[in-house]
Amino acid sequence: MTSTIGSTVLGYPRIGPNRELKRALENYWASRISEAELRNIARDLRIDTWRSLRQAGLDSVPGNTFSFYDHVLDTAVTFGAVPRRYADLGLSPLDTYFAMARGVESTPPLELTKWFDTNYHYLVPEIGPDTRFFLADHGVLEQVREADELGIPVRPVLVGPVTFLLLSKPDSEAAPGFRPLDTVDELVDAYAELLRELARAGVEWVQLDEPAFAADRTEAELAALREAYRSLGSLAERPKLFVAGYFGDLGEALEILSAAPVEAVGVDFVAGDPGLDSLAALPGLRDKTLVAGLVDGRNVWRTDLDRALTTAATLLGLAGEVAVSSSCSLLHVPYDVEAESSLDPQVASWLAFARQKVHEVVVLGRALREGRDAVAEELAAARRVVTDRVNAERVRDEQVRRRLAGLRPRDTRRADYDVRREAQQEALRLPPLPTTTIGSFPQTADVRRTRAALRRGGIDHDTYISRMRAEIERVVRLQEELGLDVLVHGEPERNDMVQYFAEHLAGFADTEHGWVQSYGSRCVRPPILFGDVSRPEPITVEWAAYAASLTDRPVKGMLTGPVTILAWSFVRDDQPLADTAKQVALAIRDEIADLEAAGLGVIQVDEPALRELLPLRAHRHKEYLDWAVEAFRLATSGARASTQVHTHLCYSEFGDVIDAIAALDADVTSIEAARSRMEVLGDLGAAGFARGVGPGVYDIHSPRVPEVAETVELLRAALASVPPSRLWVNPDCGLKTRGYAEVEPALRNLVAAATEVRRTL
Ligand code: GLN
Ligand code: ZN
Repeated sequence: MTSTIGSTVLGYPRIGPNRELKRALENYWASRISEAELRNIARDLRIDTWRSLRQAGLDSVPGNTFSFYDHVLDTAVTFGAVPRRYADLGLSPLDTYFAMARGVESTPPLELTKWFDTNYHYLVPEIGPDTRFFLADHGVLEQVREADELGIPVRPVLVGPVTFLLLSKPDSEAAPGFRPLDTVDELVDAYAELLRELARAGVEWVQLDEPAFAADRTEAELAALREAYRSLGSLAERPKLFVAGYFGDLGEALEILSAAPVEAVGVDFVAGDPGLDSLAALPGLRDKTLVAGLVDGRNVWRTDLDRALTTAATLLGLAGEVAVSSSCSLLHVPYDVEAESSLDPQVASWLAFARQKVHEVVVLGRALREGRDAVAEELAAARRVVTDRVNAERVRDEQVRRRLAGLRPRDTRRADYDVRREAQQEALRLPPLPTTTIGSFPQTADVRRTRAALRRGGIDHDTYISRMRAEIERVVRLQEELGLDVLVHGEPERNDMVQYFAEHLAGFADTEHGWVQSYGSRCVRPPILFGDVSRPEPITVEWAAYAASLTDRPVKGMLTGPVTILAWSFVRDDQPLADTAKQVALAIRDEIADLEAAGLGVIQVDEPALRELLPLRAHRHKEYLDWAVEAFRLATSGARASTQVHTHLCYSEFGDVIDAIAALDADVTSIEAARSRMEVLGDLGAAGFARGVGPGVYDIHSPRVPEVAETVELLRAALASVPPSRLWVNPDCGLKTRGYAEVEPALRNLVAAATEVRRTL
C-alpha cells in the first residue's frame, strides 16, 4: 500500500469507453434489462477503470468515480438527503434514485443545472430544516471492498460537505432566509461517520472536492469551510484527507485549507495557478502534500511536460511533499484518442484524452521521483508535439491573421438603432407583436434517418438535398398556414447547432467516439477547434435561400454565434480565447453577408451559451464580457441597417450579463420567459433594454400545449414592461425536441393569441 499520493487523477469518465453505461441505463429504464443486469454492467465498468488506472501506473487510484447518473445526487443519497416526495413513492432504492434524477409521472425530477463553468450538469439537492443527515447508503464502502478484492486499494472521491451545501437549494419547507449551509454541522457529522467506516475498512486516503471555493465566497462560507475541515481533521478515526479545489484560483480558501488539519491539498495549476508568492506565504503547506493539478482535465491537448515539470520543481520547497494530478476530474474529456480512426493523424498526435492524460500524470510523477532522465523519451516526445503544433501549417492561416490585424472600431458598430428600425420596418412591414419561432422544427425520425443515410453513404448527395428541400418546403407551408409572420427553414440539416458549423469551418476537427457526459445518460461530442478558423464556402445560404424562394413572407436566416461555438467545443489553448472568438466571428460575418446577398432580410445569431462562459470570479467578468460582446458585434455589424439581426438566449436569469446583452446591439432578442411568467421583462426594462424583445410564451421543455387565453395573459403581462412596437411573440427555444402533435396546436394558439392582443391595442 502506498502512503503518498505520488501521481493520480482527480476523477475519471464513467459512461464507458463505448458508452456502455448509457445503453445499460436506457435498457433498464425501458425494462429491457433487470436491476441485477444493470448493476453487473456498472461493476464491470468500475473494475475496468480501476484496472486500467492501476496498470497505467498511477500511485493512487481514485475510487467512487462511478455514478449511475450524477455524483452530486450520489452524495445526497449517501447522506440521506432524499426529499420526502421521492421517498414516499415507495420505490426500490435504485428507482428512488432515478426518480430524483428523471422524475416519474406524478413527480418531476430535481432541478438540473450546470456544474460550475463546465458542460456537465448536476442535480440540485434540496435541503431544509427537516433534512436529517446520516450515513444512509453504503455504496461508497461497497465499492472500496469491490476494489480491495481486486487488490487495488482506492482513494474514494466525494463532493466535500461545504461545496455540497453551496450547490444545494432550500426545499419547499424551508422558511425564507434559510440557507442549506445552515445545516453544515449535521452534514459534517454524517461525513465523519462515513470517514470512520472507511478508516475501519482500511482506506488510507479520501478525497473531498471543494470546487465551490474557486468562485467568490462570503466570509460566512469561508468560515464554514474552516470549521468543517477543523472538525473532520480532528476525528480520532479517519483516513488521511485530501481536499481538492479546482476550476480556478482558491484564493482565501487555499489559506484556510493549508492551515487545516488535513494531509493534502489539491491546487489547479491550469485554471487557477495561485502563483509562487502566494504559495510561499502558506506555512501550513510545509507539512502537507500539495497535489499539483498540472495536466488539464478539461481540454484535450497533450501537456507541455517540460513546462509542467518546471512548475512542479518550483513547488518542491514549498510543501512537505509534491504529488501530481490532473487539474480536475477527467470526467470532462473523452476516453481515448486511440479509438479515433478518422482524425487527421497530425491533429490526433497533439491530443490527449483521459487515457493519455493518465499516462502524462504517471510520467510527471516518475520524473519528480526519479529525475527527468528516467522518462527522457516521454519528455522528448512531448517536446516534439509542442514544436509540431507551433509550426504546423494547418494551425496558422495568414489571411485570417491579416484580416484580424486590420480590424477597425467601425467593424463592430452598426448604424444607430433608430435608423435601423425605420429601415427594417420599411423593408419588412411587420405588424405589431410579430410572430416567429426560434429556428428548429421537430426533428422527425425521417429527418434523422436521411442525415444518417447520407453519413453512411446510403443515399447520394442529390437525394439528400431533395429530401431536405421537401422537408423545408413542408415546414414553410406549415408556417404559412399557421399564419406566422417571420418564417424559418426549420434546421433539418443540423445534427447540433455547434457541430454543424464546426463541420463546415476550417480549423475544426471532429471525433467519432469523443463522447463526454453532459448529464445522466446524455453525452455530447464536442468538436475540436485546433487552428485558425475560416469559412471555405457558404454554410447555410442554400437552405435559407431555398426557404425564402418558397414564400413571400420574410424568412429568418439561422446562425450560431461565436461564443456558443467556443463554449461547446474543445478550444485551442495556444492563443487567447478572445482571438479565437474573433476568428469565428469573421466566418459568421461572411455568412451573414452571403445571406443578405441571397435576399434574406432577417438573420438570427444564437448565443445561448453567452452566460455559460462567465468566469467564476466576478473580477474577471468584465474582461470576458468585453470580448464576448465584441465577438458578437464583429459577427453581426457587417449587416445592412435594413437587415434585422436577432439573437436568442436560452435562459431568463440575466443578473450579471444584462448590460452585455444590451451591448450586443441586436435588433431583437428572444429569451426564455414562459416559466417565470414574464418576470424577466421587469429586469430587462429596469436595465434600460430598448430593442425588440421576444419573451418566450411557449415552454418547449414541456409537452404541454398552452391555451390561447393563457398566452394572451402572458402577452398582456409583457406589455406592462415592453411597448407593443417592440414586443415579439415566439416560443422559449427551438422546437427540435418536440413532436408535431404538440407543436402544431401550440403554434396555432400562439398566433391566435398574438392576433387577439393586437386587436385590442
Ligand atoms: N436556433 C436553434 C434552434 O432553434 C437555437 C437552439 C438553442 O438556443 N439552444 O434549435
Ligand atoms: Zn434556446
